[in-house]
Amino acid sequence: MTAVDAVIIGAGPNGLAAAVTLARAGLTVEVYEAADTIGGGARTAELTLPGFAHDTCSAVHPMAFASPFFQEFGLRERVPFGLPEISYAHPLDDRPAALAYHDLDRTVGELGADGPAWRQLLGPLVRRVDAVSEFTGGSLLRFPRHPVELVRFGLRALEQGGPLWNARWRGEEGRALLTGVMAHGVQPLPSLGAAAAGLALAVHGHAGGWPIPLGGTQAIPDALAADLRAHGGRIELGHRIASLAELPPARAVLFDTSTKDLLSIAGDRLPAAYRRRLERFRYGNAVAKVDFALSGPVPWRDPRVASAGTVHVGGTRAEVAYAEREVAAGRHSARPFVLVSQPSIVDGSRAPQGAQTLWTYTHVPRGSNADQTEAIARQIERFAPGFRDVVLASSGRTAVEVAGYNANYIEGDIASGSGTFWQLLARPTLSPTPWRTPAAGIYLASASSAPGPGVHGMAGWNAARVALATEFGVSSPPSLAPERI
Ligand SMILES: Cc1cc2nc3c(=O)[nH]c(=O)nc-3n(C[C@H](O)[C@H](O)[C@H](O)COP(=O)(O)OP(=O)(O)OC[C@H]3O[C@@H](n4cnc5c(N)ncnc54)[C@H](O)[C@@H]3O)c2cc1C
Repeated sequence: MTAVDAVIIGAGPNGLAAAVTLARAGLTVEVYEAADTIGGGARTAELTLPGFAHDTCSAVHPMAFASPFFQEFGLRERVPFGLPEISYAHPLDDRPAALAYHDLDRTVGELGADGPAWRQLLGPLVRRVDAVSEFTGGSLLRFPRHPVELVRFGLRALEQGGPLWNARWRGEEGRALLTGVMAHGVQPLPSLGAAAAGLALAVHGHAGGWPIPLGGTQAIPDALAADLRAHGGRIELGHRIASLAELPPARAVLFDTSTKDLLSIAGDRLPAAYRRRLERFRYGNAVAKVDFALSGPVPWRDPRVASAGTVHVGGTRAEVAYAEREVAAGRHSARPFVLVSQPSIVDGSRAPQGAQTLWTYTHVPRGSNADQTEAIARQIERFAPGFRDVVLASSGRTAVEVAGYNANYIEGDIASGSGTFWQLLARPTLSPTPWRTPAAGIYLASASSAPGPGVHGMAGWNAARVALATEFGVSSPPSLAPERI
């Protein structure tokens, strides 16, 4: 095997972000990917019927829009996005849905008694979204460039992540709307980790919005891979790496893998104390996913929900918190929290004329083998009577199948590591440069490292920049901007 400068294990968004950064610096780069297609948690496929393009994992991309890496890469110039007017909606029984418009003022205006509290909670952070993106995109242990905003964010996370979480709300609308974004964290509610993740998502909902790539999420890794190949990088598909001996000699090996694969592939190169810390890294509860092919739009009882990119289905704050507590206790909730994305509202290419695709998932205990199609359909039907009548076909994936689809999703944990507050701080270990392991040339570049899950490429970019400085003496990282011919 011919020696290269750098090898990346895994072609997810983080692995490709790392590969592009290193190739742009003039290094020879090879990527090894277990699956037969690139993209990891950012792929699109026909899962139900011919002509219906479904996002197999991620679907909605506030974090890609907010990501300093993707801004540097010029993602919006390379991939067309649709931007729903309503970032996310939260249907409620017997009353109108709560809506988070991209426009903060409109949201506040329609939230009734909770409008002022919503503005007071999010307004100051939306105005300093650059600062929020900066400290949520790296290691929280680095001295923040925006300490005032960090404190402001932290105080709000403490409030919404603790016993006072209901104090500011006067009606159900505001608290339910915020609970929907907090529940993305797959944590018991209230908790600090869920509040931090939820606040960041809510801020982006009013800043850049919650965009949806036209044609499918696959367009994001495809853009990264095209840039990588244009700069000499190579990708080998269908090769799951089990040992460093399978790789060509390289000065740097960057793992877009779980900590478990890092341990099994390179454990003998890592000091015992660091190995023990990685062994203590915890994986979280899981997701069961169901994709639907629909003959037309979902018949939401509140028709405004039909134009939301994302819908949080589960009812009141108390109901969603109960459902998430059930999962945390290792049980399947009878009335689960369901995340729904309606890409067809901005992207007519996802389904044949007049038809739609619907993307859904729900939280389940780790390692669950239960198909959630019926539970999800029942919850949607509750807020959209007649939903079953528009379903043409569905494709379900249990947590065990999610894990089988991508080795990084241990027992179906799509965050590649539990999102407790501690593990957002120490990801995978407590360090200002958590991407660098103590072994020379070995880096962790995946969502198991800071800043955690999401299609933002930040773990890969950070790992590549640390590797460039440490292994290759390159202290000013290369430009990633699109090249104009
Ligand atoms: C159902 C679901 C819904 C989601 N929704 C969203 C969303 O809407 N928005 C959002 O921002 N994020 C979402 N996410 C999370 C997001 O997809 C991930 O956080 C993101 O993809 C992580 O990127 P990554 O590069 O770290 O890892 P991954 O994307 O998981 O990629 C890792 C890659 O490495 C490969 N690999 C692993 N081990 C090896 C090995 N030993 N040898 C070779 N290859 C290996 C895997 O096959 C995979 O291709 C979702 C995830 C899932 C599963």
